[in-house]
Amino acid sequence: MELPDMDPNKRPRYESAQKPLKCPACAEPTVATVVYGLIDPEGWEKLRKKGHYVSGGCCVSDDNPTWSCSSCHVDIHRPFHGS
Ligand SMILES: [Zn+2]
Repeated sequence: MELPDMDPNKRPRYESAQKPLKCPACAEPTVATVVYGLIDPEGWEKLRKKGHYVSGGCCVSDDNPTWSCSSCHVDIHRPFHGS
């Protein structure tokens, strides 16, 4: 029996070499760059003037997404390139 592909743990992994103009999942132009580390309110003010940014928190793992859609919250990774 095939289950419908709605399991959030089985969502496809999206990758892009450059920041996508549109979200690969919902096609909204709301792809935001994920910023890691602590940023003060003044820093955020400057970033917001430049475009979409979201905070990725200060805990960085080996597999953090580079971008994230602010509409559907899908994560987009930059493909890994060896050296
Ligand atoms: Zn989306």
